[in-house]
Amino acid sequence: MANNNSFKNGGVKTKSISSSSSSYSSGYKSKPSVTSGGRRSSTGSTGNSAGALHKDTPGVSGRVRVAVRLRPRNTEEQSTDADFADCVEVQPELKRLKLRRNNWDSDTFEFDEVLTEFASQKRVYEVVAKPVVESVLDGYNGTVMAYGQTGTGKTYTLGRLGDEDTSARGIMVRAMEDIFAEISPETDSISVSYLQLYMETIQDLLDPTNDNLSIMEDPKSGDISLPGATLIEVRDQPSFVELLRLGEAHRFAANTKLNTESSRSHAILMVHVKKCVKERDGENGGKAHMSRTMKAPVVRKGKLIVVDLAGSERIDKSGSEGHTLEEAKSINLSLSALGKCINALAENSSHVPVRDSKLTRLLRDSFGGTARTSLVITIGPSPRHRGETSSTIMFGQRAMKVENMLKIKEEFDYKSLARKLDVQLESLIAEHEREQKAYQDEVQKIRLDAKKQMSDAEKSYKDAFEKERLKYQRESMESIKKLEVQLAANQEKQGDKRVKVGFKDEGVRSSTNAELIEAKKLLQNEILLRKAAEEEISNLRNQVVQWKRSEATGNAEISKLRKMLEDEVHHREKLEEEISMLQNQLLQLSFDADETRKQLEIGHGVDMSGEMGSLVSPVRQQQMAYSGEQKGSVAKLFEQVGLQKILSLLEAEDPDVRIHAVKVIANLAAEATNQEKIVEAGGLTSLLSLLTTSEDENIHRVAAGAIANLAMNETNQELIMSQGGISLLAMTAENADDPQTLRMVAGAIANLCGNDKLQLMLRAEGGIKALLGMVRCRHPDVLAQVARGIANFAKCESRASTQGIKTGKSLLIEDGALPWIVKNANNEASPIRRHVELALCHMAQHEVNAKDMISGGALWELVKISRDCSREDIRILARRTLSSSPTFQLELKRLRLNTG
Ligand code: ADP
Ligand code: MG
Repeated sequence: MANNNSFKNGGVKTKSISSSSSSYSSGYKSKPSVTSGGRRSSTGSTGNSAGALHKDTPGVSGRVRVAVRLRPRNTEEQSTDADFADCVEVQPELKRLKLRRNNWDSDTFEFDEVLTEFASQKRVYEVVAKPVVESVLDGYNGTVMAYGQTGTGKTYTLGRLGDEDTSARGIMVRAMEDIFAEISPETDSISVSYLQLYMETIQDLLDPTNDNLSIMEDPKSGDISLPGATLIEVRDQPSFVELLRLGEAHRFAANTKLNTESSRSHAILMVHVKKCVKERDGENGGKAHMSRTMKAPVVRKGKLIVVDLAGSERIDKSGSEGHTLEEAKSINLSLSALGKCINALAENSSHVPVRDSKLTRLLRDSFGGTARTSLVITIGPSPRHRGETSSTIMFGQRAMKVENMLKIKEEFDYKSLARKLDVQLESLIAEHEREQKAYQDEVQKIRLDAKKQMSDAEKSYKDAFEKERLKYQRESMESIKKLEVQLAANQEKQGDKRVKVGFKDEGVRSSTNAELIEAKKLLQNEILLRKAAEEEISNLRNQVVQWKRSEATGNAEISKLRKMLEDEVHHREKLEEEISMLQNQLLQLSFDADETRKQLEIGHGVDMSGEMGSLVSPVRQQQMAYSGEQKGSVAKLFEQVGLQKILSLLEAEDPDVRIHAVKVIANLAAEATNQEKIVEAGGLTSLLSLLTTSEDENIHRVAAGAIANLAMNETNQELIMSQGGISLLAMTAENADDPQTLRMVAGAIANLCGNDKLQLMLRAEGGIKALLGMVRCRHPDVLAQVARGIANFAKCESRASTQGIKTGKSLLIEDGALPWIVKNANNEASPIRRHVELALCHMAQHEVNAKDMISGGALWELVKISRDCSREDIRILARRTLSSSPTFQLELKRLRLNTG
């Protein structure tokens, strides 16, 4: 693991200080080079379409950093040790600490940081924890841990809330302040667990009823998680401080109950930071092909663990301070296992006993794993505790040799991509609909306008034409009349002239001539008028032709618009096709995402072992502890989101999508574990409504199958009934021809028949009638379900009668089921026969039914069952039933008499 780097010798106990120890501040405070190099390359490659889980950055070595903090003398030490010199001497500028052996000799140790008794809480945070917190925000795991003898300041360093004096705030509070400053509430999230480990038992400090949490280890990836631990999402600093306070209160209460004190237990704070990596591209602007350019956002999941260890003095003092040996061993187990692991890692030993204790299992990623780890060891100045101080220092020195390989935890967020796609799809559909509507309105308006113009023009033309025509008709009639009068007068005059021939001849001729000229003039006038009229008419005719022409162009325009409309309709159909394709893709995506996630996790594990080699492999499993821990809840969430999506597709326009979605639901409903989720998500209601809204028998069949599966559970049965399920199923049964559909419907009703509470309602809503109606289809599978339903019903009824809840005849008899029952008591198919036999036995147990059963021929069937049934239990039941009924006995006696 760490055979190649310069930190290796840093911090080895040394008398002649010559090691090339790294500078704590330069190597630690500045952001690690990994962060820039590794991160940049990783976000740049957004991976293949399958979506890469963690980026394969090779991991960067990061040694465990150790700081030592010296507590000032306390009041007691000030008085009791007044005459003695402190056993330690600090040289912060040299990052050295001297531990006095005796008056003339001391050992010198180097650390990454040496914090004097005057070091402020702010400085301690900045050198010990801040770099770890920054790494967590960059997507790495990080650990801050305090180790030391009780009373040396571990809790002071990590856990002070600083209520009265903000400068006293400890690492937990300051770390969270830094985290809140760096995240954006819309995209990122922080959740917190707080635990106590005492005598190898993990207690939930956020929920004291969880007093024995177990560590789960993913058998494949080796990820560690605490599935039972309360995980609270915190949104601001005050609520986080409140959580810490609550945890402390619970810790105090738990320890009082266990009769111990907090110095004997380990407190572990876990902070999960999920941070979305900002998208840098503007490529998603265009709407076209968005399904192809859309990328899943990258999220980084860092986990910060802060551990306030139990007092280190316990290790060597088993049995001291009032503990039994067992108790002491147990208290010390985790701490000594941690020491052993650190020794093994420091010495590059091939076996690291990680599994020896709960603490080492929980901190698997912190030592020898992928986390950035910082340890603060706390010591006191008193010479009386020189032994403890020395062993604390040695622990710190060994921890400095542990090398981790830092790895970024990054993955694609498919769910938010799916949500985004969904939103875009919706808006596309809405926009398309809007455009379509506007276009249609426009076409309609143009059409109406054109029509109106045409009819107006036509009307005004007709009116004008008619008026003109009448006018000229009238005028020409008048002219003709005038001419006729004139002509008659002329002819008369001509007659007179012929009689008076002779001397007057000249005079007469001249006067006649004048009249003729007059008549000619009139005639010419008339001719002119007629011509003008004719011209006017031809004018009007021309106008008519023109109108006709413009009407033709109008028609051409309309047909053009019509063509455009057709094109548009075609375009719309294409878009709808694309939408349904997108919906299919989305569905597919939802299903694939989980698969992909799993596969990628496996793939990642293989890569890791290749890189890290066998030495690290026991530790490697810890590397993905966080993602493993999340996995349970992610799967749950995913299912819920996926389910909602699928349910919404039940209403899709495309029948293929719909049937696909129903089939998926039906498949899910076949598994008991999914049923509750389906019902919770409203799936039952959707399925029931499909029975009325859809006309597709395939959908009816599959939906009824899903309902039948859901109807196996008592709560669901009540829900189905309360939502009018029986009427819906009855209606479906009535309209269906396909035996498979009928089988599903009958199966669903048969399940409902087995519920004692629903008997009356089921019958009142026609459940029994519906069952009997389905026997029209002779398919044995359908008949078997009908028989099962009847048997279930008879059984419940019999129970109710026995308990005195029910009086009166069987409702099965009331509803006319007996003839079918009797007829099928000998059915060849054993599933049918068996159920019918049971139904008969149940009905026969109550005297009220006896008369009807005798007259319906059921007694004879019962006798046959009691003799011939191949199942002994039914045979015995029939026999007992027969012998206990006085009515049956009487009848049998009579028959025997009759038959002789
Ligand atoms: P631990 O958790 O290691 O048992 P505590 O944090 O409870 O120790 O500290 C023991 C006592 O010492 C407390 O009263 C605490 O206030 C005090 N103390 C510890 N460290 C310092 C320090 N650096 N400066 C002042 N007082 C301190
Ligand atoms: Mg403490």
